[in-house]
Amino acid sequence: MRRAIPLLLAALSLVVSCGFPGVRTASAADKIRVVTTIPDLKALAEEVGGKLVDVEALARGNQNAHELEVRPSLMLKLRRADILIENGLELDSWAEVAVQGANNPNIVRGAPGRVDVSRGIQVLEAPSIRVDRSMGDVHPMGNPHYSLDPGLAATVTQNIVEAFARFAPDRRAEFERNRQAFLSRLDEAMARWTRTMEPLKGAKVVVYHPQWIYLLTRFGLSQAATLEDRPGIPASPAHLTRVIRQMRDERIKVIIVEPWNDLKLADRVADEAGAKAVVLAGMVGGVKGADSYIAAIDHNVNALAQALR
Ligand SMILES: [Zn+2]
Repeated sequence: MRRAIPLLLAALSLVVSCGFPGVRTASAADKIRVVTTIPDLKALAEEVGGKLVDVEALARGNQNAHELEVRPSLMLKLRRADILIENGLELDSWAEVAVQGANNPNIVRGAPGRVDVSRGIQVLEAPSIRVDRSMGDVHPMGNPHYSLDPGLAATVTQNIVEAFARFAPDRRAEFERNRQAFLSRLDEAMARWTRTMEPLKGAKVVVYHPQWIYLLTRFGLSQAATLEDRPGIPASPAHLTRVIRQMRDERIKVIIVEPWNDLKLADRVADEAGAKAVVLAGMVGGVKGADSYIAAIDHNVNALAQALR
């Protein structure tokens, strides 16, 4: 029995051949080690990679993805990564700090293992003038929160296929098959979400942080105001007074909040405006039950539709 093991290992070493020669020795049935900045991208990378990948996310679903504290534990996760997938559009620019502490040439900027999956996304709320970041606006390149728009998952997963196939060219067909299987499940879910949202077309909502413009646009809803003064800038009393007045005038019934927002503040504004605050999953894992890509959107669509009815 013991003699069979080396043979088995030799056979398995053929399974994953390493596309970056010299970067690491492709040993046995090693999975491709993937790290993503946010959990939405982990969920999508797992759909594409299936059994061939081992994926970890740096941020948790209930955190503010704009402001992650870069701890040594994050650098440790990056140290052995083959591929780092980032959201881009400056949502997760903190990843650069973590990479610099990780001492891993696979994932430095410009390396084939560093992947920005915003490529090909049509960015919403792109500023027409140069935004001065010193003013604190955290969306200087336009709105970076495209990941939970199910209509954009095809583009994101295509970018992931390309990245994985660069690393393991002989597995491209498998990645592509996995992607197609996921996209057909997503299509079915999309039909369901479209039916649910159809009667709510044209509805206006207020959001705490402008995280939802892609989802709202997808289903024909509109964002009337944000509780934050500007993206990432806390609400001032004068701004909140204006928002409350607007909500009453326009009979806006819902404020969308995320787990990391100041829920008490949102509830207070909602009370004064005769509306309600509804917590959605800003990212996969953000609320209970939102633990896969489709489950997170299911939760968001259903909670939003229920609150608007
Ligand atoms: Zn944001």
